[in-house]
Amino acid sequence: MDSKQAKQWMQKTAIRMEAEKDELSALDQALGDGDHGVNMARGFRAVEESLDEWDELSLSQLMQKLGSTLVSKVGGAAGPLYGTAFMRLGAAWKDVHQVDGEAWMSGMAKAVEGIAQRGKTQAGEGTLLDVWSPVAATFTASEPDWKKIEAEAKKGMEATEDMVVKKGRGALLGEKSVGHLDPGAVSSYYLFQELANLMK
Ligand code: ADP
Ligand code: MG
Ligand code: MG
Repeated sequence: MDSKQAKQWMQKTAIRMEAEKDELSALDQALGDGDHGVNMARGFRAVEESLDEWDELSLSQLMQKLGSTLVSKVGGAAGPLYGTAFMRLGAAWKDVHQVDGEAWMSGMAKAVEGIAQRGKTQAGEGTLLDVWSPVAATFTASEPDWKKIEAEAKKGMEATEDMVVKKGRGALLGEKSVGHLDPGAVSSYYLFQELANLMK
């Protein structure tokens, strides 16, 4: 992925979040306060509106800007978590102009570590990390297998339905949180599905 493709990814994701806004918010109605779709669509709209301004930026700087924009514009719990993930990618890709398998692998490991620290969470707790973590683990030093990455993201997202949510608003429901997809896991699946569609 180069910076041009990174910007295409952001644009596609912005369109997708807008299209899925109501569905994501409905999922958050079951486990939280019903605003996840609105939050994500607002955040990525702000990203899309900044893309012209970010034209000259390196891949690393782009990821930093994406991260800081999501922190401030998505807000809530998800903003700082998505934001941290992209800021970690930006830090990991300091001298990278074209992200290859190795750069994805090391960058995504840092992103997952950032989400875990920031959310005081680990995989299996019914959050967006249940998508980010298997996706990160699928990258190898070779050319990314985008089909497999998309499949792992989907599997991770679907697995949240059977989990007792341990972090975020959903955790307040205890056992009653079982039977619902985690909204942050679903939006993360869309994010990686857009990436895989673009790259494959
Ligand atoms: P809020 O809960 O503040 O309204 P959102 O609805 O935008 O924020 O985002 C909710 C999503 O954030 C959840 O579905 C979950 O994936 C994620 N989330 C919340 N808290 C945590 C946490 N501590 N660690 C990881 N992810 C979390
Ligand atoms: Mg919410
Ligand atoms: Mg909220």
